[in-house]
Amino acid sequence: MSAPAAAAIEGTDALRALSLELDAAFATLDPEGRLRLLAERVPGRTVFTTSLGIEDQMLTHLVFRAKLPIEVVTLDTGRLFPETYALWQRTEEQYGRRIKAKYPQADALEALIDDQGINGFYFAPEMRKACCGVRKVEPLGRALAGASGWVTGLRRDQSPNREKLDFVEFDEARGMVKANPLFDWTREEIRVFTAENGVPVNELHDKGFLSIGCAPCTRAIRPGEVERAGRWWWEEETLRECGLHMDASGRSVRARDGKPAPGDSAFETIPS
Ligand code: SF4
Repeated sequence: MSAPAAAAIEGTDALRALSLELDAAFATLDPEGRLRLLAERVPGRTVFTTSLGIEDQMLTHLVFRAKLPIEVVTLDTGRLFPETYALWQRTEEQYGRRIKAKYPQADALEALIDDQGINGFYFAPEMRKACCGVRKVEPLGRALAGASGWVTGLRRDQSPNREKLDFVEFDEARGMVKANPLFDWTREEIRVFTAENGVPVNELHDKGFLSIGCAPCTRAIRPGEVERAGRWWWEEETLRECGLHMDASGRSVRARDGKPAPGDSAFETIPS
């Protein structure tokens, strides 16, 4: 084995062990303590990918307020709500910090639109996944390239697909520490925190949009529906993840029960 390959394995093993250690430590810390620990212990770059949803806004607040060396990056798909762009600007103005953005590759986006049209995602799950692949998954890969740590706003109670996540996992597909500092927080706890601390949040939350993604793929939810019911609502529930979050075996988090839906293989192997 070459020296660089051996060093890479050694680094991977170290990050895998660190993930286990951090997962145990997170249980005794508050979210800011968790972020501080990540900033101290994860070697190299740590990236927080924000969708500007309410939980991500809380994390952005904690990172910016404590001036932690964690990069805050968003994926601008080009199809976000005007309210989301307004919130993005408001957040930068309030904290005096830039939220970096990654965009789809122009050639890939043009090829996608040539192939399926501007709203092709409504017609078949494969077309929707192709759109998410070009607009989200590939840019995410560039956002995380070279980083050792990845912070997300995933919570246990966002959807049944996310119940089996951990505080901190080793992302085998990407070879990095993946941390979910708000994993055990409820939406109501986050709502109270953001209100009490003056954290800017998307005005669409008050109009029934609890989980906010791209405008054409998000609707307000009805009373009694789960939080993410408004995302890709026209699809079968088991298909509704965007491919950004995969488990230890490289599957989308919705497949953690070992029962991926038929026809998913292309989606699950979208290269990052
Ligand atoms: S959420 Fe909809 S518009 Fe956004 S990338 Fe996915 S399919 Fe495309």
